[in-house]
Amino acid sequence: MFSQDDLHFDRQHIWHPYTSMRDPLPCYPVVAAQGCQLELADGRKLVDGMSSWWAAIHGYNHPRLNQALQQQMAQMSHVMFGGITHPAAVALSRQLIRMTPEALECVFLADSGSIAVEVAMKMALQYWLGRGQTRQTFLTLKRGYHGDTFAAMSVCDPHNSMHALWRGYLPEHLFAAAPRCGFDDAWQPADFADFAQLAERHHRDIAAVILEPIVQGAGGMRFYHPHYLQQVRALCDRYGLLLIADEIATGFGRTGKLFACEHAGIAPDILCLGKALTGGTLTLSATLTTREVADTISRSAAGCFMHGPTFMGNPLACAVAVESLAIVNEGHWPAQVAAIEQQLRAALLPLRDHPAVADARVLGAIGVIETRQPVNMAQLQQFFVTRGVWIRPFGKLIYLMPPYVISAAELMQLTHAVRDALDVEAHFLP
Ligand SMILES: *Cc1c(COP(=O)(O)O)cnc(C)c1O
Repeated sequence: MFSQDDLHFDRQHIWHPYTSMRDPLPCYPVVAAQGCQLELADGRKLVDGMSSWWAAIHGYNHPRLNQALQQQMAQMSHVMFGGITHPAAVALSRQLIRMTPEALECVFLADSGSIAVEVAMKMALQYWLGRGQTRQTFLTLKRGYHGDTFAAMSVCDPHNSMHALWRGYLPEHLFAAAPRCGFDDAWQPADFADFAQLAERHHRDIAAVILEPIVQGAGGMRFYHPHYLQQVRALCDRYGLLLIADEIATGFGRTGKLFACEHAGIAPDILCLGKALTGGTLTLSATLTTREVADTISRSAAGCFMHGPTFMGNPLACAVAVESLAIVNEGHWPAQVAAIEQQLRAALLPLRDHPAVADARVLGAIGVIETRQPVNMAQLQQFFVTRGVWIRPFGKLIYLMPPYVISAAELMQLTHAVRDALDVEAHFLP
């Protein structure tokens, strides 16, 4: 089913995420996935610790998601969204409006998380145009991650996404120091000082604040204090700034709340969703706004929001998202996520004492080991595959975010592999 020749072809011709074309890291051919297991071409099965980057929350090859796709496919796989609507888009948007904070009531459907962020940022620019002002600066946090397209990249951590490479091309925005107070730490008011100062100094130029609520994901897997987010909301209210919450990673239960903003009891003006939206089956994102934001944008000189991707509101993606949200709304996830959290805490937090470990932290169904040395990706990945698990570390982070349906035994296989990996010196760069 997958030959050495195929692997060689892949190596020669196909880009993979953040991977060199000259000297690519090894790739593992996966030919099937079922429940919480990925099946390699040679028949080996790996317990999935990644949910395919936050997405496959219900596990793989889910019969209900498959059925939703098949039913929609029998009607139509795609139709343009300009001048046309369809049942799947309406059902999905109804559902999203019901599940998200009350003030959010207008939905923009697009192709991917990065595009949801582009849309949110463009909306903020057009919102101010609608109010007769030009505001083009965004205030965000260091260590953030919002996607790989240019506007999204301009609000990613300047160091991680190598803003130096793009100098003169990327717009320059305002970056507050990353929150230092962890989710469970005692709140230190000083943690918010830098953000407050930037907001105070620049609020007349700021179009919006954009951030990942509570969990800074790809920029460092950091969990910050809910009070920080409350303070952000309060300052946005005080200065009349829009707040964009990027819940592309955190949405749909991953942190133990349906949306991470709930940890702080706040609501954004613009909300970005993606990743788990379709249960990890197809690419789709949604950007939700308040009526006031939507109306103001529509009052700008353009008369409308200037965006409309070819595959906007793709019926297949919408239909499978509707079914994924139906599963979410049946309400098994809080107990599943709580059980994962408890098991991750018991297994990972004691590793704080390990000499190779700088920190261990857990929130909801996310477990993180921050190592002292950067990992040797190729070596460590190979070790994990030998141990029958799929874990994709990066930098100094070995982290787990399994599907919510993982069994205790499967999760133990993941945590034991992480624990044992720490004992091998070759797994780390000097
Ligand atoms: C993954 C991610 C994105 C980008 O989503 P893509 O679908 O990869 O474009 C944006 N924001 C956050 C917080 C993410 O985790």
